[in-house]
Amino acid sequence: MSETKSKKSHPVSADVLPLRAKASRFHESRTLKSLGMYLFFREISSDQDTAVTIDGRRLLMFGSNCYLGLTNHPEVKKASIDAVERYGTGCSGSRFLNGSLDIHRLLEEELAELVGFPRAVLFSTGYQANLGAISAMVDRGEYVITDRMDHASIIDGCRLSFGRKLKFIHNDMEDLERVLRGLEPEVGKLVVVDGVYSMEGDIAPLPAIAKLCERYRASLMVDDAHGIGVMGQCGAGTVNHFGIEKKVHIIMGTFSKSLASLGGFLAADEDTIEYLKHRSRSLMFSASMPPANVEAVRAALRIMKREPERVAQLWENTRRMREGLRAIGYDTGLSETPIIPVRVGESLTAFKMCAELDKAGVFVNPVVAPAVPEGDCIIRLSLMATHTAEQIDTALDKIERIGRSLHVV
Ligand code: PMP
Repeated sequence: MSETKSKKSHPVSADVLPLRAKASRFHESRTLKSLGMYLFFREISSDQDTAVTIDGRRLLMFGSNCYLGLTNHPEVKKASIDAVERYGTGCSGSRFLNGSLDIHRLLEEELAELVGFPRAVLFSTGYQANLGAISAMVDRGEYVITDRMDHASIIDGCRLSFGRKLKFIHNDMEDLERVLRGLEPEVGKLVVVDGVYSMEGDIAPLPAIAKLCERYRASLMVDDAHGIGVMGQCGAGTVNHFGIEKKVHIIMGTFSKSLASLGGFLAADEDTIEYLKHRSRSLMFSASMPPANVEAVRAALRIMKREPERVAQLWENTRRMREGLRAIGYDTGLSETPIIPVRVGESLTAFKMCAELDKAGVFVNPVVAPAVPEGDCIIRLSLMATHTAEQIDTALDKIERIGRSLHVV
């Protein structure tokens, strides 16, 4: 209905405009829709917790990054509402000009303390934090070196940098050393890795990476989007987990996962943050985080500190789900965290399995090429601290039944 409407109101002809013709040739999503296997943009019409309402049906949510289950917490919601009452709904400008609030600074101080770094700076999304850090740090003639499994926002940050881009095999220290060994010692180099990898749920060997960075005089930046709230003391992240704060140049984090909001940050030494505040284009030329988002994060941080049992419960739920999947016979790869991939093979199987699970009342995400190699597609499950044992067991029963019917297991 809405598609017909928008076609009518958009008279641009595919015959005349080559770019419009390209859009007309794009059929992938419509093919999946016609097969009843389109699983993107599913609309949730309820609060977001361990169960959600979609099209009037209740589904168990095993596809959310809300690791600590805080998006629906009364204290977090109240903090957001109070922030709107006091500061209004938006900042109408960037941090650099008119868009800085006292609560932005307070949150920066609290984040720096959380990760054990001298200073932090907020960005309006984690994506922008990665763009801003990499493009500002790595100039022409310098190098940015990434793991092949790094997140898309890191890749896009590299695209915005004028430096040279090099890659190493996922978590392969010999390959990282091969790359670093070939570079001039006195030239600037930034190695960027995820703390926890977002598709496979495995952890970067940060102590070994840091050692190589030290040896070859490279800066190390860790994207800890999936580590904050999950790893380390009271959820302080993967760098804290390994206790290597002194060996990491920059930590990046996001508020769109454990911290129940939207936004991101970079933490580093005083000079680096001062430099980034005046050189990161994605910070300087984009409006700042709205007050409601800032106060939601501050409340989430307070709860995280006060209730370390949440992180413990998240790990207990992770153990229950992972052991359950392995007992059924699923290959969960190298996952060590609340992100659990289930290998299912071809993309069609991944879509079929997710569609069947959706019908059976379980929400999980398909991950297909190009995010993973074709033929090695996965269903990605993620756990929350607030899942009950009963919810996990119900999901496991359905994942087993549907997997067997599709001969995945
Ligand atoms: N890095 C990683 C590893 C991520 O998974 C994500 C979000 N999917 C981001 C960065 C971007 O964060 P945000 O959602 O805050 O833009």
